[in-house]
Amino acid sequence: MSNVHVIDHPLVQHKLSLMRNKEASTNSFRRLLNELSMLMAYEVTRDVPMQEVEIETPLEKTKARVIDGKKLVFVSILRAGTGILDGMLSVVPGARVGHIGLYRDPKTLTAVEYYFKMPHNMEERDVIVVDPMLATGNSAIAAVERLKELRPRSIKFVCLLTCPEGVKAMNQAHPDVPIYTAAIDRQLNDHGYILPGLGDAGDRMFGTK
Ligand code: URA
Repeated sequence: MSNVHVIDHPLVQHKLSLMRNKEASTNSFRRLLNELSMLMAYEVTRDVPMQEVEIETPLEKTKARVIDGKKLVFVSILRAGTGILDGMLSVVPGARVGHIGLYRDPKTLTAVEYYFKMPHNMEERDVIVVDPMLATGNSAIAAVERLKELRPRSIKFVCLLTCPEGVKAMNQAHPDVPIYTAAIDRQLNDHGYILPGLGDAGDRMFGTK
């Protein structure tokens, strides 16, 4: 059984379909990604630990449950992860943020690290790695491998889109890391793009093509 959760809520699917359309402008692509990320944050944080605090309503003292946002770390795989990060931070503003810079060698399609910056005390934290496209899986696998060196309490991976090849590679390398995605598309092409997909997520969100 693969460790993958497809978030098939109608709002998520509707926004994803709008993003796939090649006519979507940079502006609407970015806005939709932001909205989708908030919706995905809702699913991926469903089981985060909570703590009880004492508060005072206008009427009396009571105990209430809150998330300890500081224990959550969103780790964005540069550069496309930024698009998901923004949406997730708007619903969990207290979260810490880490960045991993990886680029895909166009010839070998392997991941090459150029930047790595994480909060301190990762062993006390729950990590949610974000990258819109889980394609070959090379970047995701390399990012999670690197993060595991810091022994965080847990790791989850969130993407917008993936494909059977990406899910298989990630599950083989890191069977303990659940994948949250809005869709599993048909296949990868020879250039490492997902079909039907949505094209190059970074270029479409930043308008660089
Ligand atoms: N990265 C992208 O931006 N798009 C794909 O289809 C695959 C990887």
